[in-house]
Amino acid sequence: MKPEENKYWNPIMETLPRERLLDIELKRFREALRWAKESSPFYKQKLHGIEPEDIRTMEDISKVPMTEKDELRAAQEGKEPYLYGDLLAVPSERLSVYHQTSGTTGKPVFFPDTYESWQLCVEIWCAILYAAGFRSTDRVFLPFVYNVYIAFWQGHYAAEKLGCEVVPGGGLETKARIQKIRDVRATALMNTPTYGLHMVEVAKEMGIDPKKDLHIKKMICAGEPMPESTRLRLEEEWGADVYDHIGGTEPGGWAGMCFQKQGMHVIEPYYLHEMVDLETMSKPVPPGVRGVAVITPLCRRCIPLIRFNLKDVMTVRKDSCACGRTSIRVDQIGGRVDDLRKIRGVFFSPSVVEEVIRGQFPEVVEFETVLTQEEVMPVLTLRVEFDPSIGESQYKELRSRIKEKLKIRSNLTFDIEIIKPGGLPRYTLKSSRFKDLTKQ
Ligand SMILES: [Zn+2]
Repeated sequence: MKPEENKYWNPIMETLPRERLLDIELKRFREALRWAKESSPFYKQKLHGIEPEDIRTMEDISKVPMTEKDELRAAQEGKEPYLYGDLLAVPSERLSVYHQTSGTTGKPVFFPDTYESWQLCVEIWCAILYAAGFRSTDRVFLPFVYNVYIAFWQGHYAAEKLGCEVVPGGGLETKARIQKIRDVRATALMNTPTYGLHMVEVAKEMGIDPKKDLHIKKMICAGEPMPESTRLRLEEEWGADVYDHIGGTEPGGWAGMCFQKQGMHVIEPYYLHEMVDLETMSKPVPPGVRGVAVITPLCRRCIPLIRFNLKDVMTVRKDSCACGRTSIRVDQIGGRVDDLRKIRGVFFSPSVVEEVIRGQFPEVVEFETVLTQEEVMPVLTLRVEFDPSIGESQYKELRSRIKEKLKIRSNLTFDIEIIKPGGLPRYTLKSSRFKDLTKQ
């Protein structure tokens, strides 16, 4: 996409000098802290002894304890008012929107919004969509049932606010969705990376080449981390600009990619983003160094979140962005802290496998990584399914090339198991391509 004349959703906020942004964030952080202490029983107890007026500089913020997801769960479970418990900071009758986390890592956490706080979430997503080139001329197709999770709801309402025409395709199955995209000549898609690739596979079975026969020019992805190789492959297959964003039910969507496609801009000054070191989980790390992201939504009031530990491994970019936005940019490269495993003395993240396979092996249509324990040694097996057009005579060469590339990238040796076409499940959301069988 070409840079446009009018390229910012909020031209003033998105180009404020950094000192001004930081001033606003510090002031808003103090306000958020005050609100949390006064209005949420959970924070009243947790932040006992910490006074907002003591936070005078950005450095002072690290004195405030981080909030962990487990604490949120405990503060809701069995507490009144029902569902939201000690986290709720507004009267129940003001709530108008319900969302929850997926609960894949335990009991779900519930996150409501008032009408006003929901409009703020929508406004923030407008900045994300606008940076990704979504305009009022677009017809946006959403191939999902939105369910109880926040991302696509936020995307849906933000696209409407931008003036796009929104086509909700959740009630259809994949072939009918592709047909509908063609029939209405949708120009933009919201997707998960995995489902974006799956749609390509199904479209081709239908005799449709997404690049030539459909009109999708831009796509924004949500729901799971997207390695750069996956993003590039989606661009190639769809003939579209593909953008990433970062969000979650607890903080909402908080960062998005601009047309430079180099990292994701944090939506400042609505969010305060910090990075702490992987070992101590408390020391700040400078730009360019891998760390764990900690986020504070500065304006959302229903359920305050102060220094929420996202457990995502990232780096902050050192350089400023050519798009002119002054916000910091992050690269989401290292997966989840919880997913990092030490295997034979080496830190391994399952996202590395995705990076290699999606980036270098278009012959692969599906894969999964399985970790098992055999006698004393942990064993990593990549189960891989090739496109039916790949003849068995090519398997041997592919197998050794995949093994070699994985070794180079991860420093670990994989066993490669080839599965017959159609033999692997089709993953659509979240990182279920990695199975750790050593814990069963
Ligand atoms: Zn930019």
